Amino acid sequence: MTVAEKPVHAPIEGFPIADHCLTIGGIAVTRLAERVGSTPFFAYDRGIMTDRVAKLRAALPEGISLHYAMKANPMPAVVTHMAGLVDGLDVASAGEMMTALDTGIDPRDISFAGPGKTDAELARAIAADIVINMESPGEMERIAGIAGIQGVTPKVAIRVNPDFELKTSGMKMGGGPKQFGTDAEKVPDMLKRLAELDLDFYGFHIFAGSQNLREEALFEAQEKTIDLAIRLAGAAPRSPRMVNIGGGLGIPYFPGEKPLNLMQVGEGLNSLMPRAKKGLGAVELVMELGRFLVGPAGLYITRIVDRKISRGRVFLVTDGGLHHQLAASGNFGQVLRKNYPVLIASKADGAGKEEADIVGCLCTPLDRLGDKMALPEGEVGDLVALFQSGAYGLSASPINFLGHPKPLEVLV
Ligand SMILES: *Cc1c(COP(=O)(O)O)cnc(C)c1O
Repeated sequence: MTVAEKPVHAPIEGFPIADHCLTIGGIAVTRLAERVGSTPFFAYDRGIMTDRVAKLRAALPEGISLHYAMKANPMPAVVTHMAGLVDGLDVASAGEMMTALDTGIDPRDISFAGPGKTDAELARAIAADIVINMESPGEMERIAGIAGIQGVTPKVAIRVNPDFELKTSGMKMGGGPKQFGTDAEKVPDMLKRLAELDLDFYGFHIFAGSQNLREEALFEAQEKTIDLAIRLAGAAPRSPRMVNIGGGLGIPYFPGEKPLNLMQVGEGLNSLMPRAKKGLGAVELVMELGRFLVGPAGLYITRIVDRKISRGRVFLVTDGGLHHQLAASGNFGQVLRKNYPVLIASKADGAGKEEADIVGCLCTPLDRLGDKMALPEGEVGDLVALFQSGAYGLSASPINFLGHPKPLEVLV
């Protein structure tokens, strides 16, 4: 294939080009780099986040609450912005819980899931009066013990490891033997024990997987999730007030991938609502999403510090790398390395004149940000923008690897 025929990258939207330069939140990326004062950096666009929540809400049936899964992007300014848009925050550590509480959100709208919660973390969560998604019968006993010492009745939900998985998911987090949740078939016994303890039963948390771009697969998992919740509710000490049906909505990262058809996702869920109402009564159905809400709102900006040719191949060496953006390098769970969307920010409307490899500054062959990409000629000093960097970027990368300074993050 020639340079021009290759699929360039996954579709990207929301970042207009003005005077040849990529913009974010109405600001030229080159100018934003001056404001930040150093490269590399992450830039997030709050307008895109707002827009994505609005579009999703417009597609979803009434009665579905939206939670933001903070681990996708825990920057406090981002979490505060999201807290104003969604109905709840899902945290996965006591550290994330503190950021969530700082937003001023009602603690009952914060839920804490995750394996390996320590007694110290549980004590803090109980004191904060948030909802704890219990991962095992053992964790339930520890919660009851700690709550007894504090003299309170904590709100608890049972995280269920479903007896199915979300098919064709980027990351499977349910089905088969898993470290997450309690196997569905063991939940009735757990509910029996729960009724004997001084615990306030809130509901179920059923999360099957993430990064899914197939509407039918999402629908199939949602249908099975609601049916499973109905079955389990029959064994509960009281009817659940909340059922978290997971999320799993993906975003396109790689050439050939397309954004989800939200109308189709919404119609599917809408068709399940009568069944959910009949089987679960006046329950709050929650969807928890991370990357879908914030991933497309973020850019990772690096500067080209060297341009070299090795045996005929062009290498653009940047001051960034996998220590900040591990997932884009292909080393965050991917089997095959594929390119995230990338542009030379200062020549954003330039045609692909050459094929170039974009690499980072780390002394390891794993540090690749773009392989054989069709790009305008990149020169030393030019800024490179990696898209889909609003989720699982900085906080999911080995920041200390090779001892470079921590990049700044900015929300515009
Ligand atoms: C990571 C995680 C999420 C968010 O996944 P995304 O792919 O970012 O939407 C939601 N719920 C749970 C329980 C998670 O562990």
